[in-house]
Amino acid sequence: MTTSTQAPRARPGYADLSLYAPDRRPCAVDLSDNTNLWGVPPAAVRAMRESAGDALGRYPELYADSLKRALSDYIGVDASRIVTGCGSDDVLDSAIRAFGAPGDRITLMDPTFPMMPVFARMNGLTPISVPLTPAFDADVDGLLASDPRIIYLCSPNNPTGTMLTRASIDAIIAGATGLVIIDEAYAEFAGSTTIDVAMRSDRVLVTRTLSKAFGLAGLRVGYAIGHPAIVAAVEKSRGPYKVSAVAARAGIAALGDGLAWVREHVDAAVAIRAQLAAALCSLGMDPLPSRANFVLAPIRDATEVAAALRARGVAVRPFDGLAAPSGTALDASRGSAVRITVGPWPLIDQALGALREVLR
Ligand code: PMP
Repeated sequence: MTTSTQAPRARPGYADLSLYAPDRRPCAVDLSDNTNLWGVPPAAVRAMRESAGDALGRYPELYADSLKRALSDYIGVDASRIVTGCGSDDVLDSAIRAFGAPGDRITLMDPTFPMMPVFARMNGLTPISVPLTPAFDADVDGLLASDPRIIYLCSPNNPTGTMLTRASIDAIIAGATGLVIIDEAYAEFAGSTTIDVAMRSDRVLVTRTLSKAFGLAGLRVGYAIGHPAIVAAVEKSRGPYKVSAVAARAGIAALGDGLAWVREHVDAAVAIRAQLAAALCSLGMDPLPSRANFVLAPIRDATEVAAALRARGVAVRPFDGLAAPSGTALDASRGSAVRITVGPWPLIDQALGALREVLR
């Protein structure tokens, strides 16, 4: 047997990558991860309980065609324009791999979904972050400037909760020479979508998820809508068997009999989002206008604030050093903020009580 003198090394760039590690320790009131805090659609729970036999012992559908048909009914687009994946994380990763070669550039807004630059680097692409405008809109020229292979937009944006204007999205698509991804993980809470844009364009991919409004984060189901040629390329890079049979069945149930439950709780989240924002204002804070199921509240020393809240049984997501457009409340807090997921009012009330104590 020969022993090697040098252990294999991961590909260039991997030494700088670290594992995604938000604080996921259990907490009595967990408002940290933007999941559906009202729970899971009962129809999806039933479908899961009834899954047995073939759903466990045999491979699932290669490309989740039954789930695509349910998504096609929900979205109102042909199934040939839909690709699914193991969470929208998987769809985003697959889209980068399908359209970007190692060494290519991808531009992103800053701040935005923190996993996106990581997925870019995992695939050998160079992420270029472009600050948002003072209105928290996309900087069109900045995102187009380096003629990137991929442009990633997120609306409503995580962690700001803010929307991009249709004018800036249209201008980016008009000026782009590569793929434009529009991440709509939180679209249901915004009540608006760019799927109509994706239907008209041959360079747009809109990504979505069942992890947020649909309450199925644990099952990992994501999808995207785009031109059939885009979807076909992403599907190649995604590979077979990415959505388990159980996840597909629960997803189909959530999109069918579960839809009324989902809509009811989206309405509740939208109403409570406004109440939460108003309560934060009355505490002297200046939250960003959110169209998602969370609110970003600029506050100095967010990490310490989050630790003090956790000590009182409330988990929120702290951010430090976010890129802050000048003249905004986020700028005044030096890019420090807490992101609070919207949930049933008793949870929000507990969080506000803890926050009052911490701010005292
Ligand atoms: N996009 C955005 C903007 C997100 O906030 C998240 C989840 N935090 C995702 C994508 C990934 O969601 P999932 O993989 O659960 O679909």
